[in-house]
Amino acid sequence: MRLEGLHHITMITGDAQSNVAFYADTLGLRLVKKTVNFDDPSAYHLYFGDESGAPGSILTWFEFAGAVRGRAGIGMIHTLQLGVPSAASIEFWATRLADRGVSAERSGDGTSLVFEDPDGLRLQLVVADDGNPPLQAVHPEVPTEHAITGLEGARAYSMFSSVEESVLTDVLGFEHEGNGEYRLQGVDRHFHWAYDAAPALAPRPGAGTVHHIAWASQDDDHLKWQARIAEADGYVTEVKDRDYFNAIYFREPRGVLFEIATMSPGFAVDEDAAHLGEALRLPKQHEHLRAELERTLQPVVNPRTVASEVSA
Ligand code: ZN
Repeated sequence: MRLEGLHHITMITGDAQSNVAFYADTLGLRLVKKTVNFDDPSAYHLYFGDESGAPGSILTWFEFAGAVRGRAGIGMIHTLQLGVPSAASIEFWATRLADRGVSAERSGDGTSLVFEDPDGLRLQLVVADDGNPPLQAVHPEVPTEHAITGLEGARAYSMFSSVEESVLTDVLGFEHEGNGEYRLQGVDRHFHWAYDAAPALAPRPGAGTVHHIAWASQDDDHLKWQARIAEADGYVTEVKDRDYFNAIYFREPRGVLFEIATMSPGFAVDEDAAHLGEALRLPKQHEHLRAELERTLQPVVNPRTVASEVSA
């Protein structure tokens, strides 16, 4: 039994429309689901990814309209690493971000690009050249040879960042590569997970911070993962039905909220695969709130819907 790498990462945004404009237009991802927070249906839950919304490509946001900016600190993820196909893609993105007024910096030996989203979340574009099959979306201004290929890694803040975390290795099957860096290797995809020394300032959840990270499980293994975490004395939740996957949650010992999510049924379960993310989808238990939610949720414009209306 092994985890299949990343499933998704979930953040908080203070403004759904600027979030959609940034990820579905500037970065060229596909908005694959527009729904609400199952635990608080007055708030949006937006999902972005590749064309099909495949696990490994998914970034999601809870919108808390007007939320104050947070600050990543100990026990929180501080940087998401998105893959691009080549070093030439880094040049393409440096130009595209500059053209759109997003300031970005080269990092390391110039082969990665670091910038922030409109809420202040730190993103890093890295060349995905160590084996992950590309998971890409289609955007009219982003050639396939440069389009984002899915999530390659994430970095979190921790005390004792370089010390091996045995829950990761012994319970969850990550490989420790030394110095706080881990690799989670699934059959098809892998993910780079790492800890850095925490800053002195206290963490503050809010807009632009990461809420949790979800690892992908084969459907048949999901209950076994729950049992394995419980056997390791982890406090793990019951299985929650998130409509597009089943989920369990637990905190790893460094404090980061982990989820394990099933690979299926996926985002085409309640709308046509060709029209993912276009209409507001509500879980059954909240469908009776539709009229109210359609009135109270700030409408968001999906750039893809606008483009198809223009060309129609
Ligand atoms: Zn989640």
